[in-house]
Amino acid sequence: MTPHDPVRTADDLWRRLLEHQPAIAAALAMQVRDLPEDWPLRVLGYGRPEAALAQPPSGPEHRVEVEPYRTDPEDCPACGEAPDYFCRYHKGVSAGYQMLGQSLLDAVKLDRDVTVRTVLRRLSDAEDAAERGELADAVDRLTEETQR
Ligand SMILES: [Zn+2]
Repeated sequence: MTPHDPVRTADDLWRRLLEHQPAIAAALAMQVRDLPEDWPLRVLGYGRPEAALAQPPSGPEHRVEVEPYRTDPEDCPACGEAPDYFCRYHKGVSAGYQMLGQSLLDAVKLDRDVTVRTVLRRLSDAEDAAERGELADAVDRLTEETQR
């Protein structure tokens, strides 16, 4: 499915809503049923709904996920629904691991004997210092500690 095919995306979304979120599907159907006759103009700002089909999304296109996620990515229905393999949950987990992994790699570049525990403590110290508005002092202290 191409990301810019609103008709197919709507069909797919409706099918998944019926299967996984029937209450939301019912509420949506009731709202659509109660739309006034001039809804394209009042709701979309276009005289004909077909004109809105060509409009791009207001920001980066994020597909709506309906299927629930499971923490195991090999057995995650939401990942199966996502066109680029990972659902939003697993994209977030992956980004978190990358951020943590990069901190560990940076720490090892500075001091190859550094332990994971030390890096995590330093990250936690830096986060606490940032919350107190003392990040610059903490960075100086941690940098000195690393160069000893
Ligand atoms: Zn997933």
